[in-house]
Amino acid sequence: EPQPGLIHRLPAHWAARTPDGEALAFEGHRWSWRQLADRTDRLRGALRTLGVRRGDRVAYLGRNDPACLETFLAAAGAGAATAVLNWRLAPAELAYVVADSGARVLLADTGRAAAARTALAALPDPPRLVVTGGADDTDGTADEPGTAYEPLLARAEPLPPAPDTAPDDTCLVLYTSGTTGFPKGAELTHRSLLSSCAALLSQVPFGPEDRNLVALPLFHVGGIGYALGGLFTGRPTELLRAPAPEAICRAVDEGATHLLLVPAMLPGVLRAGTEHTAAFARLRHCLYGASPMPLPLLREALSRFPDVRFVQVYGMTELSGAVTALDHATHRDPRQSHRLASAGRPLPGVETRVADPATGAAVPPGRTGELRVRTHQRMKGYLGRPEATAETVTEDGWLRTGDVVRVDDEGFVFVEDRLKDLIISGGENVYSAEVERVLVEHPAVAEAAVIGVPDEKWGESVLAVVAVRDGARIEESGLDAFCRTHLAGYKCPRGVAVVDGLPRNAAGKVDKNALRAAHGAVERVPRQLP
Ligand code: ATP
Ligand code: MG
Repeated sequence: EPQPGLIHRLPAHWAARTPDGEALAFEGHRWSWRQLADRTDRLRGALRTLGVRRGDRVAYLGRNDPACLETFLAAAGAGAATAVLNWRLAPAELAYVVADSGARVLLADTGRAAAARTALAALPDPPRLVVTGGADDTDGTADEPGTAYEPLLARAEPLPPAPDTAPDDTCLVLYTSGTTGFPKGAELTHRSLLSSCAALLSQVPFGPEDRNLVALPLFHVGGIGYALGGLFTGRPTELLRAPAPEAICRAVDEGATHLLLVPAMLPGVLRAGTEHTAAFARLRHCLYGASPMPLPLLREALSRFPDVRFVQVYGMTELSGAVTALDHATHRDPRQSHRLASAGRPLPGVETRVADPATGAAVPPGRTGELRVRTHQRMKGYLGRPEATAETVTEDGWLRTGDVVRVDDEGFVFVEDRLKDLIISGGENVYSAEVERVLVEHPAVAEAAVIGVPDEKWGESVLAVVAVRDGARIEESGLDAFCRTHLAGYKCPRGVAVVDGLPRNAAGKVDKNALRAAHGAVERVPRQLP
């Protein structure tokens, strides 16, 4: 039997070795490897009857549910790719991504079925709709006869994986978060995803008693990409419908050992109440990433959870997940506390360089520049957008991350800003992360983001948008004095806007376009549907 270099082979691989071993758990239901392999073979047969062929796309829309993973595995084995869509999209946005994905079939959970119908009604050549049900409605219901999920599976003839699928076939289309523009579908392959999985496992190995907890939305690479850890190692995956802090702590209490979260989820966990946090303290590996981690929050987590091995990851959709990691040992080393602000060093199999974004020339060591990455983890391209792909991937195969970084003398990468968020004030570059790192150290600041706003004298000036801690008060002059002791004058915010909370997208990232729009700054990316 060949090595499982193809993702859809993983259930059968483990079914041949530990058929009754637990593969997947969700809201009290459990599936063995044998069951998972059987269900995905049946779903593949069902997709075939719905017209799905090699090279096609299938779209999935809904809250986290085993049906999403089954769809991914079933379609991959048919040589088709699954586009996992953000369930929070409004019908017009949904119509856009469904059309963009070119999906032949759309599977939607009961909660999103109405939005899906509205979206599909707007399309000239809509995909067929299958309603998968949900936790409260496991049978699924559908308008179109014969397209409810469980009955579909029960009726279907199992279809084994097609023999002609190859490691460089696209098997997953993930839309980027849309933080810096209109979402683009990144075409990920068996090779890119399994390379990413192997690289991550170098940081967080799985032992025979370990269980992987998948809490992030599956439409994000930190959801579905991270879920490959259990499938690859033959360990159980506990899937959460939503990343509620109590549900996370309960899953850890019940034995989950590995978790990936985004920084925005950590305050909820820290404030979940002692019976919950006592459980969380038993987690073995806690990965976090996808957006900057505020240092006071990280320090609190490190001291509250002394036995948890924290690992920061930096990565992106286009790279199938993480490409650098700040390892657990560095987190706990007091002599390296300055590196807590770093995203760590490249993972195995990942080459990095820091380049002048305009010319591509290498910048001198220690200077800021755009991070470029070369690895098997790279996407094939943006689905149906050769120009956007050519702008992002250089001819010799380096992916332009669009992130400004600095690398220290031992190779630790510090993410300073996105190129598109960079503030230029009086001709000087101001890197958002540097200012934000100072702001969040102020005792009254709960969270902070900076943006550039038009300024007659300086072209742009720095505006701080801050949320205040419960019970605390902020004086603009006090914050200014605080910043001036830590930052050069041109980097200090010239204005402060106090808000209740920062606007964030589904992946917990601060929506700087929304902030710019709300504070009279020039919008940097088109907000209209093309
Ligand atoms: P879009 O590309 O549509 O604008 P996005 O870039 O937010 O959306 P993702 O692929 O989910 O979509 O996110 C990748 C980006 O997230 C990186 O380019 C980087 O800016 C940021 N990021 C990821 N990990 C970290 C980290 N550990 N620290 C700081 N920023 C991070
Ligand atoms: Mg991006």
